[in-house]
Amino acid sequence: MNVVATLPSLGDIAREVGGDRVNVTSLCKGYEDPHYLQPKPSYSRTLRKAALLIDNGLELEVGWLPPLLDTARNPKLIPGSTAILDGASAVTNVLEVPTGSVDRSQGDIHPFGNPHVMLDPRNALAVVDLIARRLADLDPEGAAGYVMRADDYKTRLSARIEEWKALAAPLRGEPIVTYHKQWEYLAQWLGLNIIGYVESRPGIPPTPRHVTALIDSMVKKGVRIVLAATFMDEDAAGEVALKAGARLAVLPAEVGGADGTDSYIDLIDTIVHELAGTDDR
Ligand SMILES: [Zn+2]
Repeated sequence: MNVVATLPSLGDIAREVGGDRVNVTSLCKGYEDPHYLQPKPSYSRTLRKAALLIDNGLELEVGWLPPLLDTARNPKLIPGSTAILDGASAVTNVLEVPTGSVDRSQGDIHPFGNPHVMLDPRNALAVVDLIARRLADLDPEGAAGYVMRADDYKTRLSARIEEWKALAAPLRGEPIVTYHKQWEYLAQWLGLNIIGYVESRPGIPPTPRHVTALIDSMVKKGVRIVLAATFMDEDAAGEVALKAGARLAVLPAEVGGADGTDSYIDLIDTIVHELAGTDDR
């Protein structure tokens, strides 16, 4: 079965669950910003042959996926059909769902809540089950195998989750600043306290006035870590870190976003180790 994933983390999980019954292609590379993917003609051809499309959902891909689906003209890939699966629909506690009305003045707001769910591996556990169920629906002959592989993967991931929690325990309560509003799920999982963002508003680059106020509040609150994804503006984040006397941690936010992050487990492992390593107490 041809499976296409938007994010490489979803692709990796689909491969783990699907084994040799699936042929998985991920559209985004780990070093590309999934909010603003530049579609290539090959993406349409890949989507045309897909029996299942796994996207993140919560409008993370809203800027580029719908037009790509139009050009792909795959009759199976119709919104609402079983051939399209939103990974984030497995997540019960979506963060930052706006309560009031949403308009562009608030920045590039995600109107259904913060979509960066895959940075909490507990959410990934739920996504594993979701993918296994959908693969079984589409390919009943493989159902028993999908369940077995999903259980095996969840056992391995759960063991690592315990290990990572212990490793990051000294960081509980640590005040941090992040570049984009992208690490909320990770912060919630590890007990990090995000006190500000380098971006003035989500998706909008920092203004000098914002940077000055941010540095002030970082110094007051004793922020020692600034966190940015590898594909974000490292210079702006680096300047903020330097002026506030904090350390800049440039971390992969997706599978393939840095060396040694070829799988979802390796990705979270890299993030947690680098974060724990930036703790210089
Ligand atoms: Zn975002």
